Amino acid sequence: MTRTPQETILKLAIPVPLPGLFDYLPPREGPCPPPGARVLAPFGRRRLVGVVVGHSDRSELPRQRLVRAIRVLDDCQPLLNTEMLGLLQWCWRYYKHAPGEVVFNALPPALRVPGGTVPAAPLQYRLTAGGRERLAEGAGRAPAQWGLLKLMEHGPASPESLRQARRDWRKVLARLGEQGWVAEEMRALEEPAPQAGPKLTREQAGALEAIRDDRGRFRCHLLDGVTGSGKTEIYLKLVEETLRSERQALVLVPEIGLTPQLVRRFHERLGLQPAVYHSGLSDGERLRVWAAARRGDARLLLGTRSALFLPLPKAGLLIMDESHDASFKQQDGFRFSARDVAVKRASGLQIPVVLGTATPSLETVHNAARGRYAWHRLRDRATGAAQPGWRVVDLCGRSTEAGLSDVALEAIAAALERREQVLVFLNRRGYAPVLLCHECGWHGTCRRCDANLTWHRSGNSLVCHHCGHMREAPRLCPDCSADALHGAGAGTEQLERFLGRRFPDFPLYRFDRDRTRHKGAFEEMYRSVREGRPAVLVGTQMLAKGHHFPRVTLAVIVNLDQALYSGDFRAMERMGQLMMQVAGRAGRAERPGEVLLQTFHPEHPLLGRLLEEGYERFAMELLAERRLSGLPPMSHQAVLRAEAGSREPVQAFLQAAMDEFPGNGASVFGPFPAQMERRGGRWRWYLLVQGRNRPGLQTALDRWLPAVRGLSGARSVRWAIDVDPQEF
Ligand code: ADP
Ligand code: ZN
Ligand code: ZN
Repeated sequence: MTRTPQETILKLAIPVPLPGLFDYLPPREGPCPPPGARVLAPFGRRRLVGVVVGHSDRSELPRQRLVRAIRVLDDCQPLLNTEMLGLLQWCWRYYKHAPGEVVFNALPPALRVPGGTVPAAPLQYRLTAGGRERLAEGAGRAPAQWGLLKLMEHGPASPESLRQARRDWRKVLARLGEQGWVAEEMRALEEPAPQAGPKLTREQAGALEAIRDDRGRFRCHLLDGVTGSGKTEIYLKLVEETLRSERQALVLVPEIGLTPQLVRRFHERLGLQPAVYHSGLSDGERLRVWAAARRGDARLLLGTRSALFLPLPKAGLLIMDESHDASFKQQDGFRFSARDVAVKRASGLQIPVVLGTATPSLETVHNAARGRYAWHRLRDRATGAAQPGWRVVDLCGRSTEAGLSDVALEAIAAALERREQVLVFLNRRGYAPVLLCHECGWHGTCRRCDANLTWHRSGNSLVCHHCGHMREAPRLCPDCSADALHGAGAGTEQLERFLGRRFPDFPLYRFDRDRTRHKGAFEEMYRSVREGRPAVLVGTQMLAKGHHFPRVTLAVIVNLDQALYSGDFRAMERMGQLMMQVAGRAGRAERPGEVLLQTFHPEHPLLGRLLEEGYERFAMELLAERRLSGLPPMSHQAVLRAEAGSREPVQAFLQAAMDEFPGNGASVFGPFPAQMERRGGRWRWYLLVQGRNRPGLQTALDRWLPAVRGLSGARSVRWAIDVDPQEF
């Protein structure tokens, strides 16, 4: 049948960094692809995969100029359902990002290219009655065939187990099939077999009850519980109930490093292996998990930011653990807040979403305080363990070794003496922040960034932590040739060396990005620490997150004073979160914990508020400050970032963009240099757009961006819009 000229027009999302969808005619052959289906389409001189986002009978282009899609992929079945298409559309409109990139971000990498196909549901193989008879006859002259039959003796076998037995299992299996000895069937789903958990505390039971009451409808729940208050126990109960009602649960965590522990805990309790999804998996594995989620077979999904876009045809529950964590914000390409999109998604799915954290972001506290989120507080540790006590050490006029005061060293020695573990937290990798010449003051700076090079003693190199530039550390000062180069300030490497010498009888574990780069390194150290022998743990942020170290009773915070001087209005909030997270590592089991904070500003009022009255009061105080200064979450921001190899085109472009700003509803400020003006040899500046409310900001951006795109300078810089920015 030939189509009339009035045939449907396809609105395609194509993975290119251009605004808008692309109009195409359906392929000449076959049925018209429905929304969510993939097609192969000519694009310039290339052939790309496009996703049908909608149908229309109109196009801005005259019909005769419309190009035809080449063919439909995946047997015309839609890969993205209406719910997901709706969410993605909201995303590209809200974050002002290219629709094609937003849509393709929701597909596993293997399906972003024409070759990829959706894998079929996995199969298994079982013996027929004939097969059983043959098995009983013994191997005889066909040991290979008999060997495979034997594998099915006690129940169906999976392709994986057969593959393990023989490389040529397919060939042998085909032979068995021809004989009618083996039949193929769909693999049975693993059924959960939950174990009973501890009896919930009153606080836990209250929160669980409230969240459970919202089953089957949308509500955002802030599960605001100190470390060890039993938030994970609540997740386990909620997930168990979700599985029992044959619905899917999606659990998001900030870091890949946190998944193995959580996977183990879920598996042990629920008797069901969670399906894991994150960017560290192979393309094949991601495809397999994505397909299982889409069939509804994967009932418990656990992953990082990228898992947020997994298909959930039987969605029942969404959980985001450590929801304050910065890694839930995507900082390049399609910049989005996984927390905000998770809330949006839950609303579209009509399911509850749980944001768990000990230190909610001010945005979240604000939403909870005005009743948009249900707020559940867990203020006590579930095991009855006491909250750690704070001790502040005034660094003024006190000498330190590797950044540690005598008070800290004594406390560490005492804890080790008691055969307990100690955590020393420092927010800086490397041996010393800089290699300094004590004759002339020279120190290494990066040629491509506005940053000092960090001295790494292992390998004796100077490394830029911003662009990765690395060079050998000089022996003599490059400026004055003096033999007077020494490390200044302390880094994790230096701490490790110093503490190793000071406490030679105790093992020392350093957790930072350098040390845990190799696969499995983190897990291995983690396991050793969990064995519980007295030890010193030295680490950066990585150590502050969500890990459970039952034998740590002392945490030392070497110094977080930078936050007190920072120009970033979120620095205090982040400092408070980090302090509470570090404190959460101390004294989680039967022994009480202590946190020792070293600072040059023991009298700082916000510090006092945090230590004496807790995070919630601290957050409320910060919120009051934000209100006075009209900063988020009391207002809403977007940033237009631009960068290029030199400064002039960047400033010229931003200036021109500023002149195009439509006004009313929002204001524009700048241009400002980025916090690090030069990074990786690129000059970086930005404009700040601020509106009193979201609609005002959104409208202004929608009117402004087409004009920005049209600027002649837009081609000589790399620019991007970042809605709800977290960094400047
Ligand atoms: P969070 O996720 O808030 O850090 P967890 O759920 O990991 O807290 O609980 C901390 C510790 O307390 C775990 O060892 C957990 O098994 C235990 N725990 C949690 N809830 C209870 C409870 N109701 N009774 C006894 N122990 C509990
Ligand atoms: Zn010098
Ligand atoms: Zn650099």
